Amino acid sequence: MVPLFLLKEGTVYRILVAEPLAEEGLARLTASASVDIKTSISRDELMTIIDNYDALIVRSGTKVDRELLAAGSRLRVVGRAGTGVDNIDVESATRQGIVVVNAPASNSVAVAELAMGLILSLARHIPQAHQHVAEGGWSRAKFMGHEVRGKTLGLIGFGRIGAEVARRAKALEMDVVAYDPVVSIERAQQLGVSLASIDDVLQQSDFVSLHVPLVESTRHLINAQRLTLMKRGAYIINAARGGVIDESALVEAIDSGSIAGAAIDAYEQEPPVNSPLLKHPKVITIPHLGASTIEAQAMTGVDVAEGVLDALAGQSPRYAVNAPYIAPEDLGLLAPYAKLARSLGKLCIGVVDDPIQRYEFVYAGELASSSTSPVRTAILQGLLSGVSEQRITPVNAQVIARERGLRFSELTLPEVENYAGMLELRAYTATGKHVFSGTVLRDTPFVVELDGYWVTFEPSGSLLFTYHRDRPGMIGRVGTLLGAHDVNISSMQVGRIAPREQSLMVLTLDDSVPAEVIAQLMNEAHIQRAVALEL
Ligand code: NAD
Repeated sequence: MVPLFLLKEGTVYRILVAEPLAEEGLARLTASASVDIKTSISRDELMTIIDNYDALIVRSGTKVDRELLAAGSRLRVVGRAGTGVDNIDVESATRQGIVVVNAPASNSVAVAELAMGLILSLARHIPQAHQHVAEGGWSRAKFMGHEVRGKTLGLIGFGRIGAEVARRAKALEMDVVAYDPVVSIERAQQLGVSLASIDDVLQQSDFVSLHVPLVESTRHLINAQRLTLMKRGAYIINAARGGVIDESALVEAIDSGSIAGAAIDAYEQEPPVNSPLLKHPKVITIPHLGASTIEAQAMTGVDVAEGVLDALAGQSPRYAVNAPYIAPEDLGLLAPYAKLARSLGKLCIGVVDDPIQRYEFVYAGELASSSTSPVRTAILQGLLSGVSEQRITPVNAQVIARERGLRFSELTLPEVENYAGMLELRAYTATGKHVFSGTVLRDTPFVVELDGYWVTFEPSGSLLFTYHRDRPGMIGRVGTLLGAHDVNISSMQVGRIAPREQSLMVLTLDDSVPAEVIAQLMNEAHIQRAVALEL
């Protein structure tokens, strides 16, 4: 048995478990600390007793806000048995030096197995056939299916769950193609998966399975236009998050026969009310069962228990959510560069469409003479944060980048022309190089090159980029459209290769860009692409 952790004064660590935790997790905790389980505790009682505990473990039902954290004068760690930390004020915890740990990886296999179950159910109409027999029927002709062997499975999102689905699909002799903006080709190759753009994945696949988080850039990622790209007769599976598919567009695509059907575990509204998906004969619906296995629950308990015990023992927990608090003024020169680095990472992921094979980070001028580690971590944070539900922090950015197989090399150049210092992010795809660079002027970060175009703007707030042919009237058209939607422009820049050639317009805005503006811009002659980003 692991010895009980002792506090200096000779008492053992005390852990409060405030919501249900699997036996396996409790066993780890009780082997090493004194554990109180109070799963129906009221907020008032929690406020009164929290200062007796070194660690608190919750699920999603307990609000761990600033007030509770302040009352927990002895608290050193908060454990969240699950992934999301919306119910925990991580910022306040960080400021108080309280470590927050969670268990983001424990349900990957459970969700992947469910996705495989849904793929096979769609291919062989298993739920519909069951219903038919249960109602007294015995017709085989109605349920003629397909083998999945030799079919193409398209994965949108190739993180933990996507990779587990790929492993299983390969065992069923499927070809697997994936789209994920931050996964390396090597990692995909290790699993026998090829990477492609989202449109290519949709066009090639017989089954498309979604494994992306729900973040701003993935809301309605699968919309009416993308559904039209799918093969006639293809199926789509959503065991990720509701909101990633536009549900009305999905029903229309199935009704029009442009795709064959869908299997849905996660809905825009849960439980779904009056959704046309529910009674649709070509849609399999289940009640968000992804993580619902005994094994996943057990593993969540074990992961969070180990994280809490590691943090109490002063070791680095595997799934730390927050970083030690470092005051920005302590970072001196590096603080504005770290901010710039995060922005360049987010811009790169927002703008580059093709799979990125590797990155190069270039630290030049004044930046080359200092420790570049916080800037490196900040670039990784930027690359990962827009594409993950997990809170990406300086503590976990490198670990997560390694998990994703994200490849980068670094270069320091003591000299730089025109500026005191310069940070450059180069992203290499199969077809070329995309360069994003910036500098710091009067402690403020500025982007000076965006995807090969020279522009100068402060990377913050709402931004809109258009890739277009330089033509008279373009700026006016974009401005009028934004004005019609009450979006105020605060600055505008155009970078171009040559007059009337390929150009990039960058607008900084006081308001967010509604999705319909992007759709209308894409319909404008001469505009090839419009991208809205929030930094
Ligand atoms: P993960 O963070 O390991 O992987 C997500 C991947 O999606 C990352 O590699 C990321 O780069 C990629 N991605 C982000 N934006 C993208 C985009 N626009 N296009 C393509 N790829 C993009 O997460 P995970 O653990 O694999 O979880 C995947 C999803 O499954 C999450 O939404 C999670 O909430 C959901 N989930 C569902 C259940 C369930 O019960 N159905 C249970 C657990 C997790």
